Amino acid sequence: MSFKDKSPAMQRLQESLMGTATAHQNSQCVPVPVGCGRTISQQDFNTWSETERSEYAISGWCNKCQVEAFRPLDEEPDDSPDVEITNEAFEEGRDIWEGMDVK
Ligand SMILES: [Zn+2]
Repeated sequence: MSFKDKSPAMQRLQESLMGTATAHQNSQCVPVPVGCGRTISQQDFNTWSETERSEYAISGWCNKCQVEAFRPLDEEPDDSPDVEITNEAFEEGRDIWEGMDVK
């Protein structure tokens, strides 16, 4: 089967796999917009964790792009205000509690 006989989906898949292969060959991150396309120096690579190295082997993402891609949702900034128990509300609650006839 020659390249032009493949379906567009297969061609896109192959191109994306080739992108990863090219990135590995050139010690780069996969090109934008999938990755950042930066060159990864040996020195940089040496500081990566085992997990980052195996992820790079699969996806071609550098460790920085991996952080972006896998950041958990609960690390997003949270601007909901903390519920504060004011002194006043606390005193009021205590008065109610102390006024109750608990026997
Ligand atoms: Zn990158």
